[in-house]
Amino acid sequence: MNKDIVILGSTGSIGTQSLEVAKMHGLNVRALTAYKNIELLVQQAKEFKPEYICIFDESLYTDLKKELFGLNINILTGMEGLCYISSLENVLVINSVVGMVGLLPTISAINAGNDVALANKETLVTGGEIVMKLAFEKNTKIIPIDSEHSAIFQCLMGNNDSEVSKIILTASGGPFYGYSKEMLKNVTKAQALKHPNWQMGAKITIDSATLMNKALELIEAVWLFNISFNQVEVVVHRQSIIHSAVEFLDGSIIAQLGTADMRTPIQFALTYPDRLPCLSKKLSLTEVGSLTFEKPDEKTFIALSLARKAIELGSNAPTILNSANEEAVSLFLQDKIPFYKISEFVAMAMNKIEVSKEINLDIILETERNTREFVRSLI
Ligand code: MN
Repeated sequence: MNKDIVILGSTGSIGTQSLEVAKMHGLNVRALTAYKNIELLVQQAKEFKPEYICIFDESLYTDLKKELFGLNINILTGMEGLCYISSLENVLVINSVVGMVGLLPTISAINAGNDVALANKETLVTGGEIVMKLAFEKNTKIIPIDSEHSAIFQCLMGNNDSEVSKIILTASGGPFYGYSKEMLKNVTKAQALKHPNWQMGAKITIDSATLMNKALELIEAVWLFNISFNQVEVVVHRQSIIHSAVEFLDGSIIAQLGTADMRTPIQFALTYPDRLPCLSKKLSLTEVGSLTFEKPDEKTFIALSLARKAIELGSNAPTILNSANEEAVSLFLQDKIPFYKISEFVAMAMNKIEVSKEINLDIILETERNTREFVRSLI
């Protein structure tokens, strides 16, 4: 690893852990960005001394400028700033922003010939077709940070893609594992924000509770690994020890195991193809004892079947799914709708918003606007 790194979304859960990894291995950080957490961003800027800083919320520019006075750091704002940073020469772009706001910076990075360490699954859910084609044309790598996809990526190393028969995508089941539809009507925000195994940001934690996170990961896997959605099996594995697995034509299954600590997949994406000592705790199989596997309850948690429908329809259908979910989760986090309405709103948006015949970036962005507007009109 001799490339400099830039981190989009450096104040979030993946961003802060990426900086821990960067610090441990002495990686040079050229740029950091945040949505609006300037307090932490300033602290990170003072420690890592990047060349560029970007604040997405432009109204915070003056405050940030004051805080960074005399530090010789270029301050950028908004989407333009994110895209500029992504296209700096010869950097590894760690994309860990939340939501499909990550799409344009990913495209910028690839157009500049930069590899992307991708934690932002919404990029591939909404723009998978465009992004993967572009990455192929520009000969750049998309290295997944999402723990399941990092696992699959690792299981595929040294194997032939054409010999894969199935991807086994593991799911913890989230905080409402075993709940009935009735029980989901009364769950609270605090309960939904409490994931059993992983410490993550609010959006992804809610997605884990609805199983939408797994649904988005299914679509992410289809694009990343060029496989049919029918060849992705979701398996509930409560312990989150097997991070995912690949079944080959001969029936052999290769899995990747480890403790539930994102620093492992983050570091692998940053140091790929090298493996170095890592800050995460090592796994003791005898301490774990036993592992369990079950089919997900897709009748109660409808997100998975919605995702299969979306990927089968193709075009902008996954964008409808994703945008409706982003908007509904945001409404839930603002206490405007109850938990069970999140998946309901996504299903309604998928019935309502038209699936386009073709796909391009403008259609994706327009679909996002229309879908969000429709979901807001439901309350
Ligand atoms: Mn994941």
